[in-house]
Amino acid sequence: MSLKTGRILKGISGFYYVYVVESGIYECKAKGAFRKENIKPLVGDEVRIQVISEEEKKGNVEEILPRSMELSRPPVANVDQALVIFAMKKPAPNLRLLDSFLVNMEEKELPTVICFNKSDFVNEEEKELLKQTYESAGYQVIFSSTKEKSGLDEIKAVLEGKLTTVAGPSGVGKSSIINMLQSEVTMETDGMMKKMDSGKQTTRHSQLIRVSENSFIMDTPGFGSIDLPGIEEGELDELFPEMREEKYDCKFAGCAHLKEPDCAVKEKLAAGKIAESRYENYQAFYEELKGARKLDPKGLKKR
Ligand code: GDP
Ligand code: ZN
Repeated sequence: MSLKTGRILKGISGFYYVYVVESGIYECKAKGAFRKENIKPLVGDEVRIQVISEEEKKGNVEEILPRSMELSRPPVANVDQALVIFAMKKPAPNLRLLDSFLVNMEEKELPTVICFNKSDFVNEEEKELLKQTYESAGYQVIFSSTKEKSGLDEIKAVLEGKLTTVAGPSGVGKSSIINMLQSEVTMETDGMMKKMDSGKQTTRHSQLIRVSENSFIMDTPGFGSIDLPGIEEGELDELFPEMREEKYDCKFAGCAHLKEPDCAVKEKLAAGKIAESRYENYQAFYEELKGARKLDPKGLKKR
């Protein structure tokens, strides 16, 4: 018997499926000790397993290695970054929705890469505008097309060696992209999981999909409405990277960057160094969060 280190890909009714580099996937049970200590292994956890049977690929989870972080929805540990996918057309990108997603990721301190798919629908000019908008905010922007098979190498490079949560509204081509990145799991166009490994039918549950020896993605469902849970209007400027530094140059401490004079954020906007759409969405979020707090001073959006 030997101990191996691996990564939990999924957990179903008490069984954990642990991927070990060069050995494959082991079906494992968690040691009773975890339950007593009230520790539950999570998808994404790096674990030490004791192999019970090499032929049957069975083992026990003996130890959970320290987590770098933990997300609750969906429950997953050790996420390194997010990849958010929107389409250039069909559907056209909803930048307010995108910006709300970015704000949420900034709050979780998760680096995010933006992918605009279906780039075959548009010309260079349309791409350039989005590229400038988001690169000036500090984000890496990738254009892809599963139709023209472009941008996929760039996506692969971003994913390499990391655990990435992949999000995006439905219809943008997320499943098509995931299918082109690997062949172990086939995603249906409605976002349902069709098969894994042996072709077994599986229900919808969070799981990691391996795109290379050391790269994993987590398909993140549920993305359609603007929601900024637990965020207050006063911290929004911290969550827009292109405003984060500037706010210290505003005349007033606690400047909201709306109507105040001598506002460094407004100056940067006027100089064209903050994109109009980003600033407009900042304003919209600010007003919305402030309004919500007036209704419920304890913080309506807190969870
Ligand atoms: P999901 O809902 O985000 O998973 O999107 P799907 O992968 O199911 O794709 C939605 C539709 O867009 C399908 O009809 C795909 O064939 C189509 N599609 C996906 N990627 C592209 C692309 O790069 N270009 C074009 N023109 N269509 C695409
Ligand atoms: Zn200001």
